[in-house]
Amino acid sequence: MSPCLTATLITSAAAAFAISSPALRKDSFSIRYGALLIAGPQILSLVLLYITNGSKWPIYLCILASHSAIAFFLLRHFRGARSATIILLVTLAFVSFWILVTATSTQQDRLVSILPAELLLLNGVLFLWNYPALRGGSSLVMAGSALWSASLVVLEFYFQLNVFVTHASMAGELMVFIGMLLIIIQSDTRSAVQLREDYRTLFDGSPHMMWTIDQATQSFTNVNEAGAHTHGYTIPEFLALSVGDIIAPERRDGAHAVVIGRKSSLIRSSLHLRKDGSTFPMDGEARILNLNGRPTRLIIGTDVTERNQLIERLHYQATHDPLTQLLNRTGFHAEMDRILQEASRYLEMIALVKINIDRFRNVSDTYGENVGDRCLQIIAGRIRENLRASDIMARSTEYGFSVLLRGLASPKWADKWANQLLGDLTEPVQAGDYSIRLNLSIGVTVYPEDGTDSTVLRQNAWHAALRSRKLGNNLICHHSSDERDGSKYRLRLEQGIRDMLAQNRFALHYQPICLPDGQVNSLEALLVMNHPELGQISPAEFIPVAEESGLIIPLGQWVFEHACQQLNSWEKHGVKVVPVAINISALQFRLSNFAQKILATLDKYDIRHELIHIELTESAVLNNIAEAANEMRMLHSMGIHMSIDDFGTGYSSLARLHQMPISNLKIDQAFIHGFEQSVSTLPMIKAIIGMAHALNMQVVAEGVETAEQLSILASLGCNLIQGYLFSRPVPADRIPDLIQRGTIHA
Ligand code: C2E
Ligand code: MG
Ligand code: MG
Repeated sequence: MSPCLTATLITSAAAAFAISSPALRKDSFSIRYGALLIAGPQILSLVLLYITNGSKWPIYLCILASHSAIAFFLLRHFRGARSATIILLVTLAFVSFWILVTATSTQQDRLVSILPAELLLLNGVLFLWNYPALRGGSSLVMAGSALWSASLVVLEFYFQLNVFVTHASMAGELMVFIGMLLIIIQSDTRSAVQLREDYRTLFDGSPHMMWTIDQATQSFTNVNEAGAHTHGYTIPEFLALSVGDIIAPERRDGAHAVVIGRKSSLIRSSLHLRKDGSTFPMDGEARILNLNGRPTRLIIGTDVTERNQLIERLHYQATHDPLTQLLNRTGFHAEMDRILQEASRYLEMIALVKINIDRFRNVSDTYGENVGDRCLQIIAGRIRENLRASDIMARSTEYGFSVLLRGLASPKWADKWANQLLGDLTEPVQAGDYSIRLNLSIGVTVYPEDGTDSTVLRQNAWHAALRSRKLGNNLICHHSSDERDGSKYRLRLEQGIRDMLAQNRFALHYQPICLPDGQVNSLEALLVMNHPELGQISPAEFIPVAEESGLIIPLGQWVFEHACQQLNSWEKHGVKVVPVAINISALQFRLSNFAQKILATLDKYDIRHELIHIELTESAVLNNIAEAANEMRMLHSMGIHMSIDDFGTGYSSLARLHQMPISNLKIDQAFIHGFEQSVSTLPMIKAIIGMAHALNMQVVAEGVETAEQLSILASLGCNLIQGYLFSRPVPADRIPDLIQRGTIHA
């Protein structure tokens, strides 16, 4: 074989080696392309040397091209790395010079050895550069490559030491081989160490708590800063603990399952124990790992105190009233459902008490929102003072509270409690500079007596409170007392009205209406019902039943006739009569021939028209205002006086009443009760009196009970006074004497 062919084969082998050797490490792609760039033209020049057989120029061109390519590659690849570029370029320059000298000399054959030697040398330098950190391996490759190339060139061609060459090149090859192995081992070890360090950094620096537990011994094998510190320990202290030491006693069973359970990964919320004994909630994830051949559990935990607090805060805001910090309606409903469930299990008796503040809007409108809010807070506080720890209280409506009294001994107990509460709540409320007396309506219902369903119970309580409000005077209404057998009782009452009407067993009492000095001005006729079985029943209770059943028409007619009869009888007996006011229900007033009937009755008993006053409520007048006005004008033209009864409860304004021929305005007793202590109602009464006078009406104050009320009302210019202060409603036979005396002393 010719030396050139041999050289081409050697160069090809060296090139293949140069190309594949960096490929052992997958990360050196560009080096491999560089090796190809270097080897390609080299092989071509050797092939040319072989083919052209003497013509030098193609060879020179090829060598020039190959060396330019090498230089170009090196400059590009090692851009920025100055020392590497210099070393490589110096090596290249030295070899190029040597090739040039050899090529132009007579010993061209030596090129055959120089070119593969150059390849090996560059390969060595690239290795050294590419793995600078792994000094042992890359230096060995470098040295081996140098020895190998030297053995090819120097020893074989210049000294012809063939035997020695074989040994030296073998030694070079071995060095390269071992060096490359060393590089692989060194770099693997190095990356393993790096990986460990990276994981360590992640583990230690993680904001999450992390620890590992040996599955077999159940002891901690590792913990990070966050894990130890969140539990209040140092890392060594933590590692000396056992799993049970960091879990709150009440949660130990569940949490233990996380640790020794079979599943490889699960997330569970648990309560963890700090060194100081305090606890915190933690969401944890457990994973099974194999650390050093031992099954180990890695726990990754997050302290969720803040998240839980936020959830709690949001829940609190959704279920509580910001003003009183009591449960709101939503919270109360949920709590009530829960309590009723418990009550059904333990056969517990519970009362639901609904407490409403009547006409509270007036307070806010008169004194402003701040005073209104303060009032609500004070009332809430007074209710709270009357509760036991197990009772529940809520601000269930804008001006109303609901209370659940638990563990009742008997339904009566709830009424007793409500009565006691009422005593507290009707005391004047001191808000800012004002002392305000509030009116309350209270409804009571009892579980399971009156209902077992929470909606039904709430409705019961609501209805009872509504009834209490209608009755006025801070009354408590118990759902069960009449509404439990509601329809039954109502039917009895209705039948009672019918029977008593038929048997003429109703009676009329008369209450004097006086001037402030006590002089009797007129009388109001008030129905009295003394039921043979149900006993004395207030008109506030039976009049609505009479209205609903239509019985109010004959009943009203009876009252009117009876009053006229009475007047007639008094006159016949020479009593110096005063006008009598008669309450007329809206239903009676709306009858088509109402005015005629009135006039006919007056004629029948020969009563002077001015002796009759008709009392109508606001609603009777204001519903169907045009017709009412006609009817009233007609009665007025016949000399009959008309009064608006219970003014202030119908929410109407005086302005709407001004077209009506009204002579008297009767302020409802709800305004009068305690008005002298309530700064809120006083200005209202003052305003009503002022406006009524401006509209040419006289003002009657109903329900006056104290001398103080009387003197204030008199000073405000109130024209007439009606109330227990002067006299309760009395039977007809006591009237002549009263009128005779002329003046009643308060
Ligand atoms: P009203 O027309 O406003 O009658 C005044 C009510 O206040 C009467 O109640 C009277 O007893 C009561 N009262 C008077 N002074 C005082 C006081 O100083 N303190 C307190 N706490 N109360 C006082 P009564 O008799 O229970 O009548 C209630 C309501 O029933 C009447 O209110 C009236 O609306 C209605 N009513 C009574 N009789 C009749 C009637 O013959 N026909 C119609 N349609 N309704 C009637
Ligand atoms: Mg009246
Ligand atoms: Mg009234």
